[in-house]
Amino acid sequence: MSFAEVSVNSPIAQRRTFSYAIPPHLEVNVGQAVWVPFGDKRLQGIVLGLSPHPEVEETREIIGVIEPRPLLSPQQVSLTRWISQYYLSPLFDAVALMLPPGFERRTITLISPTPPPEDFDISTLNAEARQALALIREKGKASLGQIEKALGKRKASGIVNQLVNKGLAAKSYELEKIRVKPKIVPYLSLAVNKTEAETEATNLGKAPKQASLLEYLSRQSGAVPWAQVRDNIKCSKATADALVSKGLAKFEAVEVRREPISYKDIVPSPPLTLTSAQKTAFEAIKSGLLKGKTKTFLLHGVTGSGKTEVYLQALAETVKLGKKGIVLVPEIALTPQTIERFAARFPQRVAVLHSKLSLGEQFDEWQRIRKGDFDVVIGSRSAIFAPQPELGLIVIDEEQEWTYKQSDKSPRYHARDAALKLADLSGAVVVLGSATPDVESFYRAQKGDYHLLQLPERVTPYDGSALPRVEVVDLREELKAGNQSLFSRSLFQAIGQAVANKEQVILFLNRRGAASFIQCRSCGFVMRCKRCDVPLSYHLTEDKLVCHQCNYNIKVPESCPKCGRRRIKFLGIGTQRLEQEVGYTFPQARLLRWDSDVTRGRHSHDEILSKFRAHRADILIGTQMVAKGLDLPLVTLVGVVSADTALNLPDFRGGERTFQLLSQVAGRAGRGVLGGRVITQTYAPEHYAIRAAAEHDYAAFYEQEIDYRRQLHNPPFNQLASLTYSHTNDALCQRESERMKRVLSQEIASQGIAGIELIGPAPAFIHRLRGRFRWQLILRGTELSAFLSPLPLPPGWAVDIDPMGLV
Ligand code: ADP
Ligand code: ZN
Repeated sequence: MSFAEVSVNSPIAQRRTFSYAIPPHLEVNVGQAVWVPFGDKRLQGIVLGLSPHPEVEETREIIGVIEPRPLLSPQQVSLTRWISQYYLSPLFDAVALMLPPGFERRTITLISPTPPPEDFDISTLNAEARQALALIREKGKASLGQIEKALGKRKASGIVNQLVNKGLAAKSYELEKIRVKPKIVPYLSLAVNKTEAETEATNLGKAPKQASLLEYLSRQSGAVPWAQVRDNIKCSKATADALVSKGLAKFEAVEVRREPISYKDIVPSPPLTLTSAQKTAFEAIKSGLLKGKTKTFLLHGVTGSGKTEVYLQALAETVKLGKKGIVLVPEIALTPQTIERFAARFPQRVAVLHSKLSLGEQFDEWQRIRKGDFDVVIGSRSAIFAPQPELGLIVIDEEQEWTYKQSDKSPRYHARDAALKLADLSGAVVVLGSATPDVESFYRAQKGDYHLLQLPERVTPYDGSALPRVEVVDLREELKAGNQSLFSRSLFQAIGQAVANKEQVILFLNRRGAASFIQCRSCGFVMRCKRCDVPLSYHLTEDKLVCHQCNYNIKVPESCPKCGRRRIKFLGIGTQRLEQEVGYTFPQARLLRWDSDVTRGRHSHDEILSKFRAHRADILIGTQMVAKGLDLPLVTLVGVVSADTALNLPDFRGGERTFQLLSQVAGRAGRGVLGGRVITQTYAPEHYAIRAAAEHDYAAFYEQEIDYRRQLHNPPFNQLASLTYSHTNDALCQRESERMKRVLSQEIASQGIAGIELIGPAPAFIHRLRGRFRWQLILRGTELSAFLSPLPLPPGWAVDIDPMGLV
């Protein structure tokens, strides 16, 4: 008999597998989904290994196979083990990343009557048991839920067990059905015949919009999707409703097939002739692909330098070799334009996976990917776990993006590191692309772990679309000159001029964490922790300033310790305030706001972007989001209202984040024939990140940043891990974190480890989340997963290995 090591879908299972015997009649393979007994339950599990000997003496048998084909490839099986060991996450959490969408469904327990034993005496049952028996006999089969409804939640399962033990009933199990809704789209068509419609159209002289809609509909061969009508002839819903109420047109609901990409309007695009820099990069990747050995490339090139074209040709090369690719892009870049560029090069051969797709769409795509229907899978971080067979190339665009790290739930993995591991397991080539590489990646490239490829210049299709000139404005000087408005004189003038010239302007405001630090409005001074040198965060409720690393805290001073003026409590502004100010200052300009508040509503990113692109607005105001987007040729001016927000994040990556954001924003200007400029407003014009970004000088930024990292023992010279404890009681949180610190210190001392440092505990940056307080302890050192792995963490604790951002 042989045995299977199974990762079981139960919170008790944690990081281990369980041994089960494989009954002779079952064929069980690695990666397969099976039913296993677990306590008195029957649970889903995935087979991670087979062996002739079990790991424990007594084993139970696998109940059955859920799906005959393995769901995980052997490489994915190894990847799940790595994720669980490295990120210290429950094994099944890692497994779940790779299962088809909707796989993890609830199990329904069904109870059905069995023929009663001969000597059975009904009087031995109490009234409730009799009621339950009657119920299942009447229905033939009842779910535990139905019995709970009849008898109460508490008693039901005891009574059911009693019936089962007496041989009166049997349990069976079923998976809850996937609820995949069909996709319904409104279509508009004529409600009268064409001749009638044409006559009516001429009668509608007083309502020209209705007339033209009617004419449009009569030119069509049948019903047309409403969205298409709206876009093609720019007509409003009211116009259509008017025709409907006159009985001339009608709406109908049509069920459509779920296709994340509509190829209908996509024109196939042939490969471009590469520039010499692109060619060098491409040839290097190509030789990596030909060798069929794992190799990692870091493709460093400013926005517009032609990285995407290199990805596309490297993918084509991969396909030539009979292999396939996965492309990761930050969620925000999953705009139809990005997808279209890939779809146009590989018509019908591109799958899309991201969280905005419905469960049904994700499910359909997953199944088709596994069948090998696509050459390229493009998606956000979890797309790295797509069941793409024959993996030859993984591309990670904007590899420095924080969204590649899953921070809010287990497993807290980084998609880039998972990709590197997967490539290692499957012999695939990895291309990390970025205009502003993560300093950790660049350091690895410098060391020779990655192969560095550079595209130093923009592919300039127009004269003058070189990198824009960046002007840095010192806001302290503005204040000295008596200018208290949000706009420096320079920015004010430039906006006015651009709008007058019928050009477009983007105003960028980085709001993340903005309300959490306070700044002197006169001199720009920001209070920092004496011990950790990170900005102190302002806690409104207690009116206190707190260090989120070591818990040092003070009252907000009355006046600025640097310049002595009493304007210390300035919290920064939001996009809404900025919109108002712009409205007052430039009443003639048409404004458009783009931030998460707006896009959370019914306006999609895409609607806003296409409105701006169509020049239906002059000034676009937004947060991080505007930093991405695509070519906007009419934009000649980008104004950074305050460059300092990210600098003042209580995080050692503040400088890096600032450099990245400013570089991205600058990449928006001057993409067209008109050229462009950037005006950056700041209280810290001498800061290395701001200066380097203004000069488009990654090397200068990197030299300084890596030096600080080395001095302060931060990554890449060390590893970090955070331990966060959350509880509804703040004081208890603090006590538990202090206790944990003592436990860890003792462990470090008793093992004689030299290189691990404990920082904190302190309230987490997000101190209170969904009603629970959070305290954090940071570990800095090497091999932290191995150190933490054997230590028991009580419930309430969450570990984050290589944490990113403020959580
Ligand atoms: P990145 O991905 O680095 O931002 P893209 O690949 O999007 O750069 O290229 C920027 C622009 O230059 C795009 O419009 C693209 O079509 C064009 N482009 C890229 N490579 C070439 C080339 N070899 N010849 C002509 N145009 C190119
Ligand atoms: Zn501190």
